[in-house]
Amino acid sequence: MGGRHLHLAPRLGPRLGSLLDSAGFLHMLTDALGSPLNVVVPDQIAENLERFRSVYRKHHLSGQVFYAHKSNRSSALLRRLAATDAGVDVASLGELQHALGAGFTPDRITATGPKNPEFLWLAARTGVTVSVDGESELDQLAALVRAHKLSPVRILLRLSGFETSGVKVLSRPSRFGTPVRELDALLKAVDRHADAVELTGVAYHLDTTSVAEKATALEGCLQALEECRSRGLRPRAVDIGGGFGVDYLAHGEQWERYTTELTAAVLGRRTPLTRGGHGYGLRNEAGTLRGALGLYPAHRPVAGARYLDELLSQPAASLGGRPLAALLLEHLHDLYTEPGRALLDQCGITVAKVLEVRSPDTGAELLVRLALKANDVALEEHGVLMDPVVIPRNGTGTGADTGQEPVAVHLFGSLCLETDMITRRTVFLPRRPAPGDLMVFANTAGYAMDFHATRAQLQPVARQAAVWRDGDAWRWCLDDQYWPITLPGEPH
Ligand SMILES: *Cc1c(COP(=O)(O)O)cnc(C)c1O
Repeated sequence: MGGRHLHLAPRLGPRLGSLLDSAGFLHMLTDALGSPLNVVVPDQIAENLERFRSVYRKHHLSGQVFYAHKSNRSSALLRRLAATDAGVDVASLGELQHALGAGFTPDRITATGPKNPEFLWLAARTGVTVSVDGESELDQLAALVRAHKLSPVRILLRLSGFETSGVKVLSRPSRFGTPVRELDALLKAVDRHADAVELTGVAYHLDTTSVAEKATALEGCLQALEECRSRGLRPRAVDIGGGFGVDYLAHGEQWERYTTELTAAVLGRRTPLTRGGHGYGLRNEAGTLRGALGLYPAHRPVAGARYLDELLSQPAASLGGRPLAALLLEHLHDLYTEPGRALLDQCGITVAKVLEVRSPDTGAELLVRLALKANDVALEEHGVLMDPVVIPRNGTGTGADTGQEPVAVHLFGSLCLETDMITRRTVFLPRRPAPGDLMVFANTAGYAMDFHATRAQLQPVARQAAVWRDGDAWRWCLDDQYWPITLPGEPH
């Protein structure tokens, strides 16, 4: 490819790779179900779970992996996971109902996040574990339990504001959880409500990629558990939340090169790489680079289960410098994790049909309009930069086959809005796309697929299909028709 073209090729595992090679199948699905279309791969989530489990085994740790439901609404993914031994972490009344209906028993469910009274009641009534955000929520929960004469509810205490050796607050401020310095008051409340709740552990969730920050929080939780024990409470679990991340790109060098060139573009040292010179947080102030790159680190060699492994191997500074995993094991603590994005790695794609390809004045980027809205594939919203893959209508392959040149394009959505851009980035494609071609955004299952989807302008949200391999063929059904059962002649 020409030197001025910057590619960010998506990382494709065997399942997504095979799916993207199945041009006829994807065209058939999109013709039948419309564009945009979300396709999920339930068997992949079970494989990802197994990777997390193997890290638990490596460190001889017991506990549970709770899938953070909020990262995708799919029934198929949830039901596939219900057929494993995983748990699920729900953050709304609807998610709790969905999980119960998918086959998760209450002992496999934790309820986190902001809770309205209905959510809290159903959680207490069914006996799921409630991750309590603070004292007022605890009071509310205890009152519910007493008023409805329910059995005591298992609770985790969500903590925040961890520090290392009193020097510097290493964990960022959060609107969730109780600051550890208020633990004393919270534990008094637990005592007060001893008839209504049973403390089973402490929790945190930090929205950060920093291992050091998370290690500090985990250490803080171990100390909090000691404090509980010294008061005669017997919690066992440490819930370390999610945020294990995904490696989105196939080639690390492409990411390095892209970010370097983006910086050069912001400084005016090369042709712009974005529409309107957008800098993704970087700006040029009289020749000096200012701001900070507000992008997801799309190339993350240590992500998912490997990130968990790295975190567990961190030394606990205030606890003798021994690895966190060794301390968890020694105290027989259960380790709870709540991966969302990481469990959904390689679990789905978003497919859009190309509607129009327009050439502006010579030299400028082609304008490509797709049958999808920016919110239907919210990679840009999450700062994930990754090239789409074009699947031609006519079945011909790459530019080499057709004799066409690589092109630079800007991708627009179907809303009547200047701002409905799928990405502000100039995307370089191996050949000029044509109306009727499909553009596939890979690895969108985590947050990019349905979290932001709307019915703006009465345009439909994407239909969702679940697919699985059957020998050499791909098979499919609508997402809500999928159940992880094997019928004669219909292997899942
Ligand atoms: C969102 C969330 C998660 C999942 O985060 P990921 O980054 O998707 O792994 C886990 N726990 C809680 C409490 C959350 O709010």
